[in-house]
Amino acid sequence: MTDRPREIDCGEAAEKLYEYLDQELDAATEAAVRQHLEMCAPCFQVFDFEKTYLKFIETRARAQGAPESLKRKLLDQLFREGSAAD
Ligand SMILES: [Zn+2]
Repeated sequence: MTDRPREIDCGEAAEKLYEYLDQELDAATEAAVRQHLEMCAPCFQVFDFEKTYLKFIETRARAQGAPESLKRKLLDQLFREGSAAD
């Protein structure tokens, strides 16, 4: 039992997603999140979106040497575009 990741639900997966992306989770929790993402298509879609989105922000921020306030503005814009397209 101990070598199997414990099962988590969508709520917990979503809760841990950012820490997972930032690689801030301990190994057991990381494994649990990864396992959930592999089994759960809706969560994987969110994960994939967040991953792409974080990369986009990071690349853009690095290219522009953006301060925190600008990054926040980019985030805002992206969310607004995302919800408008929905
Ligand atoms: Zn899920």
